[in-house]
Amino acid sequence: MARQNAHVKSVLRISRLADALEGQFGRPRPPRKKSRPLDSLIATLLSQNTNDRNSYRAWLRLKRQFPSWAKVHKAPWQAVAKAIEVGGLKNQKARRIKLILRKVLKQRGSFSLDFLKQMSNEEALEYLLAMKGVGSKTAACVLVFSLGRDVFPVDTHIHRICNRLALAKTKSADETYEAMKPLLPLGSAYSFHVNLIHFGRQTCRSNNPLCGQCVLFDECSFPKKHLYLVSKPDTVRRRTVADFLITEKIANDGSTRRG
Ligand code: SF4
Repeated sequence: MARQNAHVKSVLRISRLADALEGQFGRPRPPRKKSRPLDSLIATLLSQNTNDRNSYRAWLRLKRQFPSWAKVHKAPWQAVAKAIEVGGLKNQKARRIKLILRKVLKQRGSFSLDFLKQMSNEEALEYLLAMKGVGSKTAACVLVFSLGRDVFPVDTHIHRICNRLALAKTKSADETYEAMKPLLPLGSAYSFHVNLIHFGRQTCRSNNPLCGQCVLFDECSFPKKHLYLVSKPDTVRRRTVADFLITEKIANDGSTRRG
């Protein structure tokens, strides 16, 4: 019974936190158009260890140079690496993209992951997680941005904030993903995910968080929060068009590819 009460309290608390962030950033709407699952997967892979601006530039260059996944599959990995170099870790990412394409083609006979739409969340996650270089964040992003599922990807921002807010006590983003999974109120994952990323970029930054302007200050357990009470005015702002997520961007701008 005590465990059940603690669980309900956590769910209600997350609902309160999500409301507070929506008060600051608004309620983000899922992209009107969904990107194709293979596009989401590769775009999210490109975003690993870099920012969304650079990974989007890498995405556009890849698309311009190789207008179909078949062309990427046929190209030498070095040529793929050259096309995506602006996104960092070009060799590792190019090899992984090629491996993913080879595996999908071998297993499914085409460059498409659209069959994931017919799978449950657990089945789709299991399939994606079996690919080299695909972790829980990348797999969950595909489910959210291409399949419209109510799952909660955890990146480094979200991992840090969940620990500062004592929603989780974990050492890695993967552990935070597992800890948060049962706690998200139904239908809240998309908004909470997107707003926490913006909150992490603007306010609850890794270094020098703007605790003095934080809407979650009273909810926060970060021991040093009182040291960061003074911060420059105007630093906290609403979300602008420059604050995009690559997965949202490729869905909204139609820059997804065929075949
Ligand atoms: S008080 Fe500071 S550390 Fe805590 S959530 Fe807000 S910005 Fe982050």
